[in-house]
Amino acid sequence: MAQTLKLSYYPYTLKLKHTFTVSSFSRNETPVVLTEIEYDGKVGYGEASLPQYLGETRESVMDFLSKIDFSQFEDPLDNEKILSYIDDIEDGNNAAKASVDIALHDLIGKLLKIPLFKYFGLTKPKNAYTSYTIGIDKKEIIKTKIDEAKDFKYLKIKLGTNNDKEIIETIRSVTNKPLYVDANQGWKDKQKALDMIKWLAEKNVILIEQPMPKENIDDIAWLNEKSPLPIIADESVKRLKDIDKVKDIYSGINIKLMKSTGLREALIMINKARDFGLKVMLGCMTETSCAVSAAAHLSSLADWIDLDGPLLISNDLFDGISYIKGEMKLNELSGIGLIKKN
Ligand code: MG
Repeated sequence: MAQTLKLSYYPYTLKLKHTFTVSSFSRNETPVVLTEIEYDGKVGYGEASLPQYLGETRESVMDFLSKIDFSQFEDPLDNEKILSYIDDIEDGNNAAKASVDIALHDLIGKLLKIPLFKYFGLTKPKNAYTSYTIGIDKKEIIKTKIDEAKDFKYLKIKLGTNNDKEIIETIRSVTNKPLYVDANQGWKDKQKALDMIKWLAEKNVILIEQPMPKENIDDIAWLNEKSPLPIIADESVKRLKDIDKVKDIYSGINIKLMKSTGLREALIMINKARDFGLKVMLGCMTETSCAVSAAAHLSSLADWIDLDGPLLISNDLFDGISYIKGEMKLNELSGIGLIKKN
């Protein structure tokens, strides 16, 4: 009898170690849906992380997943065909699609008994140092967070507030580490944004992520032209089709599996970004070690890595990549390299 692919899924809630605040909102937890695809006694794990601002919910993800009919596919290695089918079910649903893409790739790696980076023809990530994110907070808490991040070489700082300089000065009173700055669209005036970037460039800041609202295309192009630091698109770019819109107005793009619909399209996006001379950052949402370890398999292709999701939560369901002094280390296991806890 032919084997069949079996999809299952369940909701889960990630608890954040600290209230996470960026320029537009705060939160203490992140809803997720975990997926599993079973075939021939092997199970691939996937995940959809659903921060509220992206519009997907556990209900919308489970509704999308309930529409999937795997009975038409006999070979899980036929991932092009399977994932094209998934993408065509309905528009949007990027995180839901990513949860299938990730689980299918994990399964394929397990069936072939190779880690995913090898399946993609990549080298094992080396010197893959992730930044550690510090959300917007009171002075004393920022100092505590920086102390918690002492193992990490790079910090990512959320700005876009009324006291951005004060936040940076607080950080600079305790550490000189290189910083990535993410304004999350929080700066509204291009001249003020440029003045701020010039000031930040003197403070060992390496890059600026999404300084202004994604709609302000002319302002962003002006800023990117004049900025002493690379300007990276995050909210402005989700999928492959968005790269054409940002290629001339940014210096790089932040690729996240939850935006790109998973590993398959993330890889195509990286290649396309390179064709346009764009820098590549690999990022994540608040995620377990499942989705973050999956992304880590692509890290040899990135200029900058911001894959700290599992470090910011207290109830990870998986062991996957480990962080040794901020360096991400993949284990020797097949697929993503996950061990489910309990
Ligand atoms: Mg960002």
